[in-house]
Amino acid sequence: MAVPKFRTSKSKRDMRRSHHFLTAPGSSVCKNCGSVYRPHSVCANCGSYKGKIVMAPKAKTAWQGEDFTQA
Ligand SMILES: [Zn+2]
Repeated sequence: MAVPKFRTSKSKRDMRRSHHFLTAPGSSVCKNCGSVYRPHSVCANCGSYKGKIVMAPKAKTAWQGEDFTQA
C-alpha cells in the first residue's frame, strides 16, 4: 500500500480546503407572478417563461417551500 512520505503541512492542507465551501443556487424573480424560480426555467408557480404563459402551473414542489418563496 502506498504511504505518504511526508505529512501534509497546515499550509498545503488549508490551501487544498480553500475551495471547500458552499455556494447558494441561482434564483430569479418571475416577471409574471413575482415568485422565485430557477434561472432559465419555466416558473413552476404560474407556468410562464420570459413573460409568456407556456404551460399550466404544476403542483407545489419542495423547491417552492413556503419559507423560500416568502423571503
Ligand atoms: Zn411565475
